[in-house]
Amino acid sequence: MLPVRNHTLGEKNGKKTGNKLSIVVNDVEETLKNNVQLIKELEKKETTGLVWFGSDLRIHDNDVLASAFENHKKIIGIYFIDPKLFEVNEYGFKKMDVFRTQFLLESLNDLQQQLLKKNISLLVYTDSPENRFNDVCETYQINAIYKQKEWTQEEASSKKAVQEKLEKHIVIKEVYNQFLYHPEDITLKIENIPQVFSNLRKKLEKYVSIRNESEISKLATENICNEITYIPSLKELGFDSLQQENKTAFPFKGGETEAQKRVNNYFFETKKLAFYKETRNGLIGTDYSSKFSPWLANGSISARTIYWNVKKFEQEETKNQSTYWLIFELIWRDYFKYISIKHGNSIFKIGGILDKNYSWSANKKTIQEWIDGETKDDFVNANMIELKKTGWMSNRGRQNVASYFAKELKLDWRIGAAYFEAMLLDYDVHSNYGNWMYVSGVGNDPRDRKFNTQLQAERYDSSHLFRKRWLQQTLF
Ligand code: FAD
Repeated sequence: MLPVRNHTLGEKNGKKTGNKLSIVVNDVEETLKNNVQLIKELEKKETTGLVWFGSDLRIHDNDVLASAFENHKKIIGIYFIDPKLFEVNEYGFKKMDVFRTQFLLESLNDLQQQLLKKNISLLVYTDSPENRFNDVCETYQINAIYKQKEWTQEEASSKKAVQEKLEKHIVIKEVYNQFLYHPEDITLKIENIPQVFSNLRKKLEKYVSIRNESEISKLATENICNEITYIPSLKELGFDSLQQENKTAFPFKGGETEAQKRVNNYFFETKKLAFYKETRNGLIGTDYSSKFSPWLANGSISARTIYWNVKKFEQEETKNQSTYWLIFELIWRDYFKYISIKHGNSIFKIGGILDKNYSWSANKKTIQEWIDGETKDDFVNANMIELKKTGWMSNRGRQNVASYFAKELKLDWRIGAAYFEAMLLDYDVHSNYGNWMYVSGVGNDPRDRKFNTQLQAERYDSSHLFRKRWLQQTLF
C-alpha cells in the first residue's frame, strides 16, 4: 500500500520542504508512472499506424495522431486531394474554389514540415482515397488506419468507399477530433441535444470540462519512408495563379505554424483579445475578430488549443467579457456540430431541420446578381464583392447577405450555401449549413428574424467606408 500523502508538505524557493515521507511518496509515484509508460511502450506493436489526415491538419493537440502513437511504433501520414472537389456541382459551383485550395496547399506544405520534425512522412496523393488505400496498406503492411470521425454525408461516404475496397483485416479507427467539448464527455443523449443554442451552452458550461491538449513525441529517423510524394500546384489543380487582393481582411497563409502565429499575435503581442467583444461586429481589417476560422476549419489548430490560450491570457493579462466571448463563439461552432450529428442529412434539405415547406425560387439571373454584387442593396453588394475577391466575409456580412438571399429574394437557401461552400476560406460543413438554415428560417433561430440590411448598414457602416472600399471602382 502507498503511504498517505502528507498535505502539509510543499516547495519553497525551488527546494522540497517537509519530511522524508513526502519525498518517498513522490519517488514511488514517479517510478510507478515511469514503469507504466515503459510497459505501454513495450506493449506497442511493431506495426505501422497510418494516419489519414482530413480536416485535422496539425500535429499539436491532434487526438487521431496521438491515438496512432499509443498503438504503434511506426507512423505514416497520408492525405488525399480528391479531384471530386474540383468538379462543378448541380448548382454550377466547385465544392472548393481557388481561395480555399490555395490555403489547403499551404496547410499541407506546413503539415509535411511539422511531421518531418517528428520523423513522420506525409504522403500526399491527388486521387480519390478509395483508389489508393489498398496499395498503400500493402506496401507499408498497414492493418490500422486512424482518422478524424466525420458523420456528414460526403465526408462519411468517402470512408465507406474506402472500407468497401479494403482488405478485411484492415480496420479504420475513428476518433473525435474537432470539438471543444468532447462528445464522449457529454452525458446528454444525441436526441436530447437542445434545439436552442443557449440551452446547450449552459449545460456544457455547467457540467462538462474541456480536456487537456494531446501531444506526440518524436520518432526515430528510420520511421521516415523512402517514398516521396508531391503536393501539386494551383495550376495542376486547374486554377490560374492567385494574386492576393491588397484590401483583403484575411492576408494570412494556411498551416499550423501560421495559425499559432496568429493566436500569439492576436492574444499576446497585440492583446486584441481584450477588446474582442467590442470589435467583433467590424467589417474592415485584420483585427476586428480573431480570423481563426480558416485554420479551425481545416484543423490547422484545434478549438481546445485556442481555449487553453484564452485561459493563459486570462491568467497572465486580463479576464473580461471579451475573453469569455471568444469561448462563447467557439461554443457556437460546437453547437452546429452537435446539431448536425442530431439531425443528419436534414441539414442539407430544403426544409432544413424544421422540415418547413416554404416556396423558394431558383432564378438564375437573381442568383448571379447576388453573386456579382449587383443587387439593389449596396451593403449586400459590398459584402458579396469582398467574398468574390478575397474568399472572406465578416460574420455581420454573412448574416446580412444570407438573410437577403433567403428572406428578401426568397431564393433556395441551399444554392447560397453551396456558393459559400465554394468560395469561403473557412468553409466548414456544420457551421455553413447550420448558419444558413438559421438565417433562412429552417433551422435553430427561435425568433426567425429577417435582417433589415439598410438598418444594419447604417449601424455597422455608418461612415460608408466599407461600402466605398468594395463598391468604388478604382481609377487606375
Ligand atoms: P470570431 O468572431 O473571432 O470567432 C471565433 C471563432 O468562433 C470563429 O473562428 C468560429 O470558429 C467560431 N464562430 C464564430 N461565430 C460563429 C458562428 N456564427 N457559427 C459557428 N461558429 C462561429 N463559420 C465557419 O467557420 N465556416 C463556415 O462555413 C461558416 N459559414 C457561415 C455562413 C453563414 C450564412 C453565417 C451567417 C455564418 C457562417 N460562419 C461560418 C460563422 C461565422 O461567420 C464565422 O465563423 C466567423 O465570421 C469567422 O470569423 P472569425 O474567425 O474572425 O470569428
